[in-house]
Amino acid sequence: MPKDRLTRYRGMRDFARTPEPSGAPVVDVPPAGDRPRFVVQRHRARRLHYDLRFEIDGVLVSWAVPRGPTLDPSVRRMAVHVEDHPIEYLDFEGVIPAGEYGGGDVIVWDIGTWEPHATDDPAAAVESGELHVDVFGEKLRGRLVLVRRGRQQRGEKEQWLLLHKHDEHAVDGWDTEEHPRSVLSGRTNDEVKADPDRMWRSDAPLTEASVDLRPPAPLGGAALASLDELGTAGTWEVHGRELRLTNLDKPLFPGRDGEPPVTKRELVRYAAAIAPVVLPYLRGRALNMHRYPNGADRPGFWHKELPKHAPDWVPRWDNPDADKGESRTYLVVDEPAALVWAANFGALEWHAWTSLTDSPRRPTYAMVDLDPGERTSWEDLLVLARLHRTALEHLGVRGQPKVTGRRGIQIWVPVRHTGPGAPDFAATRAWVDRLSKSVGAVVPELVSWKWGKGDRGGLARLDYTQNAVNKTLVAPYSPRPSPGAPVSMPISWDELDDPELRPDGFPLRTVIDRLLERGDLFRPVLDFGQDLPPLT
Ligand code: MN
Repeated sequence: MPKDRLTRYRGMRDFARTPEPSGAPVVDVPPAGDRPRFVVQRHRARRLHYDLRFEIDGVLVSWAVPRGPTLDPSVRRMAVHVEDHPIEYLDFEGVIPAGEYGGGDVIVWDIGTWEPHATDDPAAAVESGELHVDVFGEKLRGRLVLVRRGRQQRGEKEQWLLLHKHDEHAVDGWDTEEHPRSVLSGRTNDEVKADPDRMWRSDAPLTEASVDLRPPAPLGGAALASLDELGTAGTWEVHGRELRLTNLDKPLFPGRDGEPPVTKRELVRYAAAIAPVVLPYLRGRALNMHRYPNGADRPGFWHKELPKHAPDWVPRWDNPDADKGESRTYLVVDEPAALVWAANFGALEWHAWTSLTDSPRRPTYAMVDLDPGERTSWEDLLVLARLHRTALEHLGVRGQPKVTGRRGIQIWVPVRHTGPGAPDFAATRAWVDRLSKSVGAVVPELVSWKWGKGDRGGLARLDYTQNAVNKTLVAPYSPRPSPGAPVSMPISWDELDDPELRPDGFPLRTVIDRLLERGDLFRPVLDFGQDLPPLT
């Protein structure tokens, strides 16, 4: 079965794009040709509004229209003249991080070309307070008029009126909100928010402002099929390396729900398939391997020191701060084949350091670990996770949740790790401690602050102590040593409200299908530009 699942993406030319919903109206962005372009973006920021933007003299001259443009000629809409936007923003559809200007989600509600009417100098028409345009969009057609309403106080944004002329494109009673989908992707704001393709970083240079959140393709096709042609051992060429594999038919994880056990061959195949997706979370970091060479139902152990028998090509790092007797040489998964090597070595669980090897004392994440006690129900844990979601939203801090594959949920918050004032581990630890203490105070009946597990009375712990050098949480997409090999799966914040969500609900055999459907939801944590606001 897993073989069949993995062959489904064989031949997919471009995994990096989410398949469009069938029947969706999908149009191309008009080229920068003879006619200038216009766009209407439906933007859910603090308040819902539609941004109406016209390409004039190399910028997007813009109005924010709270109730949106309409074809109904009897309606006048208030439009606030806002600052010009860069041309690069024309086809932006995705999310703007909370806390940044305009934080929220954006779809391209309409796009097309336009012509000024009764003037050949539209910039001057805007300056004079009256602009007539003919628009050629997917939804909007015909003549729009924008008129400034009187003079504003100094520093106040200009209020304009927007209306549609009585022409052959006018439609009485046309309701903007009855046409909620993007003309580019066919998706709604909710759908884009749940699984964004792009993120806009207004603090970055223009060429880098639109950040791709799609993962690179997992490995598929013939490269994986050749693994099945090996016997129980053999040499496999994958990701440009030759790997000597052993014991391929050995069951490593007990089966789940009557399914057969997960074999080492499946783990190795999964590692090869997922490696391009998981690589950005491992690259440049020491990897602590949790090994279960005798299978997930037997005790495992931490293996940090890269063994002497590792091939020369395996990337590695010597920890200059290692004490005598401590592990010194670590595996660094800087290339995909290194993860396959680790899987063959019996590393069922992958724990990358929170810091990069070039500055091991500077964390790149602040991490919240919602650790359930014996009496903590899944519903209780969801309550704690939703409260953290609310707290981060309120603070304007970007973080991503994932289920652990066991019983827990973690939230990873990317932090700036270079430059003056970048936090050390003591700072991220204190920050997470304060955040979680505030959240926990809302539901004291669910949370214990006792150190020892036996002293917690079965309550959950909000664990900030993993924010320390060489302490780790399980990497995204890492399998866990349980029946069916459930993985630590990134989820969208909205999925916390999905009644089907389970912390161990993503067995290894289903992971690639979910990636094809949802993309890699964890990508926003790879943007390390974020400063944590002080918490008092
Ligand atoms: Mn806006």
